[in-house]
Amino acid sequence: MRVFENKNRCSGCTACMHSCPVKAISMKTDEEGFDYPDIDQKKCINCGTCRKICPFNNKLVRKDLLNAPDVLAAKNKNEETRISSSSGGVFSVLAEHVLSSGRVVYGAAFDNDFIVKHIRISNKNEIIKLKGSKYVQSDLSDVFLQVERDFKQNKQVLFSGTPCQVAGLRAYFNNVIPDKIILVDLVCHGVPSPLVWKEYVNVLQTKMKSKLTSFSFRDKKTGWHNSKLYAEFENHKPLFKNSLLDSFNDIFYKHVALRPSCHSCVFANYERTGDITLADFWGIEKYNPKFDDNKGVSLVLLNTNKGKRIFNAIRDGLVYENRDKRETEQNSLLYKPTSPSNKRDAFWKDFGKHGYEYVAKKYTGYGIIIKMKRIFKKLLGKS
Ligand SMILES: Cc1cc2nc3c(=O)[nH]c(=O)nc-3n(C[C@H](O)[C@H](O)[C@H](O)COP(=O)(O)OP(=O)(O)OC[C@H]3O[C@@H](n4cnc5c(N)ncnc54)[C@H](O)[C@@H]3O)c2cc1C
Repeated sequence: MRVFENKNRCSGCTACMHSCPVKAISMKTDEEGFDYPDIDQKKCINCGTCRKICPFNNKLVRKDLLNAPDVLAAKNKNEETRISSSSGGVFSVLAEHVLSSGRVVYGAAFDNDFIVKHIRISNKNEIIKLKGSKYVQSDLSDVFLQVERDFKQNKQVLFSGTPCQVAGLRAYFNNVIPDKIILVDLVCHGVPSPLVWKEYVNVLQTKMKSKLTSFSFRDKKTGWHNSKLYAEFENHKPLFKNSLLDSFNDIFYKHVALRPSCHSCVFANYERTGDITLADFWGIEKYNPKFDDNKGVSLVLLNTNKGKRIFNAIRDGLVYENRDKRETEQNSLLYKPTSPSNKRDAFWKDFGKHGYEYVAKKYTGYGIIIKMKRIFKKLLGKS
């Protein structure tokens, strides 16, 4: 028995592992650093629960989805929070609202070694850990079990994640989501490999001869439309606008190290998995230039009546306006998955043989800068 046919059909959501009645499934990391369910054939009773529960195999029939979601452009009124968020900072307003009455929030955070993991927070001071996009697949571990435990203890929960993670949680609850659980999904470009990320962090630390202490994938010093990577180290030397630092972004946007299933994502469409969908409102500068101050605007889709209710409760913390659904078309992930790169196989061969710095030189702007520096040095030597 196998849970999935091939790697294009598994997002690693963990629903199958947690649903197995005899606990025969564990997650195993492959050579690209992505986790997949692995069945212990000695324990397996061939009941087929894992295949039935898989949201990739079985489309979740949604009765709660509105025919036409509300489409909004929104900004957090607190400018500091907005600037330190990836888009318009709507997530922080949602989290503050939920946490203000003893409820709990789940989302992705860095651990001490900068590994991206889903965690549970119950205090407003902890929102900072979840704030900001981490463009790496986050480790869900036993988070679905924690959500279930919270629910059984009558706690209200907000779970946020990529559309496949939210679909996984839905599947784990057999697509019957209690009113107490609010689901927030992000429009998602695809998730890069945690292994490539780990090696990148190692290379940065080696070059800087210091431990990484802070990292942002979307620093807005050069504006929301031109946000960049930013890193700080124990020796207080920051890195910004640096080709080695930026190489991870190139790898992300060149689609050479995304999870295989991202290229056939069944959730990259308007049938959203969350009650609320959050994204960047790319294109707002065309539709309402006055709304765009280059500090970040969120695209918010209210997909269910629950989503609308929650939005009503938080709207005082936001500046927002209703927009036309056609204006979301610039965000292509709302109607099709990210296409794969024809260099993907070559990238992984090179990465396996030579490691991060080699692929950064070969596949990203880092290599070009190094070549230019070499030429420049030669020229200087000649003159
Ligand atoms: C891997 C990834 C790809 C994305 N691709 C796009 C895209 O192509 N187009 C687009 O418009 N928007 C994309 N987004 C969403 C966007 O970057 C913002 O996360 C979103 O608009 C929310 O922004 P905010 O300002 O409201 O809150 P922020 O504070 O910026 O975001 C915090 C939220 O992001 C979640 N989060 C952070 N990292 C991860 C992760 N690795 N996995 C799961 N959840 C995570 C947190 O749990 C929290 O819910 C992507 C996000 C991720 C994580």
